[in-house]
Amino acid sequence: GALHTPSDATAEPKLAVPAMARRAATLGAIILDNCAVRLIERQAGKVSAVVTERGEIACDSVILAGGVWSRTFLENLDLELPQLAVKSSVMRTSAAPEFISGTLGAERASLRRRQDGGYTIARSGAAEFQLIPAAFHHFAAFLPIIKERWRIMKIRAGSEFFGPLGRARWKADETSPFERVRVMDPEPDQRLLASVLRDAKLLHPQLADVTITETWGGLIDVMPDELPVIDSPPGWQGLVLATGLSGHGFGIGPGVGLMAAQRVLGETMLVDASNFALARFNRKSAA
Ligand SMILES: Cc1cc2nc3c(=O)[nH]c(=O)nc-3n(C[C@H](O)[C@H](O)[C@H](O)COP(=O)(O)OP(=O)(O)OC[C@H]3O[C@@H](n4cnc5c(N)ncnc54)[C@H](O)[C@@H]3O)c2cc1C
Repeated sequence: GALHTPSDATAEPKLAVPAMARRAATLGAIILDNCAVRLIERQAGKVSAVVTERGEIACDSVILAGGVWSRTFLENLDLELPQLAVKSSVMRTSAAPEFISGTLGAERASLRRRQDGGYTIARSGAAEFQLIPAAFHHFAAFLPIIKERWRIMKIRAGSEFFGPLGRARWKADETSPFERVRVMDPEPDQRLLASVLRDAKLLHPQLADVTITETWGGLIDVMPDELPVIDSPPGWQGLVLATGLSGHGFGIGPGVGLMAAQRVLGETMLVDASNFALARFNRKSAA
């Protein structure tokens, strides 16, 4: 089977994300690049400051939207978040005629047409589960998703275990893992992508002549139920987690951002927030 969603919005991430940042800046946001947050300070259970690699910024609210880094960051504050990482690989092709509008998801190859006339193609759900220390700790919570996807999911055991998403502890005056690895940029799975392109050509003869022009990999932060967390941990008034977007963040990010802002401002949230509560995981300190 396949799913064709012509009315879905699509965008080029490399254009859309800087455009959103520019818009935020015109509305008053100050964007600090290359400035890792090391810790969040609190006094009497309330957020009082973030400590960055360039110094401290006093504040009474913080939204933690650290993507795949969020669990590592929270563990250093003795907070638990059942968030793991899977690697996904994607390709861009040379130009080909337009034969679909919007996005087309099929079992072996999902695609959308790009503004440059090529196609972005990947195999939905075909991910490499990273065997890091947290994977053992949260294994039971993730078992249902692993069982459901085991045919298309690889388990990757290797140097990742000791890598940046492994166990780490640091203090305010120490270099954090985020400074050592500024951007997660894992190698894409070239064998997988070659097989995805073969399948895409079988499914869509219009792609017969395309070649791969770019490939990339990325780490996706995934929660056991593939839904984000938009909530505050107990004992941390002023801290709102907006993370665990589980591979849908380009689509749902603006909604999650709005709900996180509503939470900070104490406004009614866009939709029922209970689906995004930490308590659903029913584990110590996150619950
Ligand atoms: C290959 C691939 C394909 C995808 N395709 C789609 C798709 O088709 N549709 C879709 O909706 N989603 C897709 N996604 C998922 C989407 O990219 C993510 O869900 C989304 O980017 C998550 O947004 P985020 O803001 O939570 O985290 P991120 O985008 O990861 O942003 C977190 C930011 O926080 C920064 N950060 C972390 N820790 C610190 C710190 N201590 N101090 C300072 N900064 C810090 C990081 O550097 C990063 O810039 C894809 C992801 C991958 C990897």
